[in-house]
Amino acid sequence: MAAASNGVANELPVLVVGSGSTGLALAQGLRKEGLRCIVFEKNAPAVGERDWSMGLHWGAPVLKSLMPDEWWPRIQQVHADPSEPPKDPDTLKFVQGDNGNTIAAFPISNFYRLRRSKLRQLLSEELDVRYEKRLANVSFAADGKSVMAHFTDGTSATGSILVGADGSRSTTRQCLLGPELGKINRIPYCATFIECRYPKEQALFLRSFHSLYLATAHPDNFMGFFATQSIEDPDDPTTWTFKFYISWRSSLEEQEATAHWTDAQRLAQAKDFAKKFCDPWKSAYEWAPDNAGVWYMGMTEWDPGHEGHRWDNHHGLITLVGDAAHPMTYQRGQGLNHSLTDAGNLRDALVKIQQGADRKQAIIDFEEEMIKRAGDEVRSCTLNTALLHDWEKVKNSPFYSKGMAKNH
Ligand SMILES: Cc1cc2nc3c(=O)[nH]c(=O)nc-3n(C[C@H](O)[C@H](O)[C@H](O)COP(=O)(O)OP(=O)(O)OC[C@H]3O[C@@H](n4cnc5c(N)ncnc54)[C@H](O)[C@@H]3O)c2cc1C
Repeated sequence: MAAASNGVANELPVLVVGSGSTGLALAQGLRKEGLRCIVFEKNAPAVGERDWSMGLHWGAPVLKSLMPDEWWPRIQQVHADPSEPPKDPDTLKFVQGDNGNTIAAFPISNFYRLRRSKLRQLLSEELDVRYEKRLANVSFAADGKSVMAHFTDGTSATGSILVGADGSRSTTRQCLLGPELGKINRIPYCATFIECRYPKEQALFLRSFHSLYLATAHPDNFMGFFATQSIEDPDDPTTWTFKFYISWRSSLEEQEATAHWTDAQRLAQAKDFAKKFCDPWKSAYEWAPDNAGVWYMGMTEWDPGHEGHRWDNHHGLITLVGDAAHPMTYQRGQGLNHSLTDAGNLRDALVKIQQGADRKQAIIDFEEEMIKRAGDEVRSCTLNTALLHDWEKVKNSPFYSKGMAKNH
């Protein structure tokens, strides 16, 4: 990272890199506090966007605090099924994959099942978002008062702080730690997600197991999840979209060896796995059409608490939030909840700085809390992923003993 020419810290905006849920929620929070902020996103709006639904639970109050007060009722429109408010309490059920027997069911409260694309759409409103701006590098003013973001199109922007909210393969993180230490850590587990709609009778049957979600652990060391991704018209089951996966232990060598597989090969493999499953997985895979959406994903993580991973925040001029700081496996449904917590805490730190607090100390305090809280979660989630794919250990999994509760 080169030293940049002088910049003036006063009046400079906060630069947020990445318009995922974290970056946008933070930007909304800063807007609410009257702090100037610009969001830079590498992609064009909603182009080629991969969608999934995310369980928001203990992070919901933070999201509410970041949004304009009058927007909160609109969260219902972001829900997988906008026609139904979250049930309180609801139950997340885990069934045994071969016979469908319930092996765990725990109550959950105010469990919002949010569509990522819709949440981003809502949170983008009234913000200054610059699309097709891919961060390439960062530099710092010689006087230590400002930071510059350099984009791949040759342009740059100067800010009072740069916040890397650029997701699990964060460029900001790699700028700070270098390509090796900042690189995502691949782990030996993978999943094939399928996304599709069905004819009316099939859709009604598949949704009869739970209106929104169902999880499974299979005695052959598989795991699975079945979710209603979106309900366009509650009265027309042919407009319901389902998204579901089966995951399994797969060595990195095996992941490499199949890296070239086509979607058709992935779908055929998943259909084969599903033959051993109970419903809804068995029928959902069997009935999935050839043109179903297929998303294969090797699992990854990055532990901010790992030795050597502590980045230099350059006297509080740069920091990380969300998946950029702590990508974790998704089986325990914690990533978004931690990411929004980061956004709320960083908003508080930036407000304090504006009111005269020491920038360096405020950012160190913010980071220390995040690294402890979310680092513990990264490790817990990876352990949980390993346990869930090992039937012998399934019943001792923290997933069962802790449920969805916040990891203390
Ligand atoms: C299948 C699945 C299920 C999940 N379920 C849950 C759940 O139930 N509950 C839960 O709490 N969490 C869940 N999560 C985790 C949750 O989705 C993430 O923690 C959260 O979306 C992270 O948001 P983010 O904004 O930090 O990152 P992202 O959403 O990845 O956003 C990063 C943004 O940065 C942009 N970007 C990247 N590089 C650059 C660059 N160089 N320059 C400019 N822009 C860049 C990207 O295009 C993207 O828009 C799940 C994740 C997955 C994959």
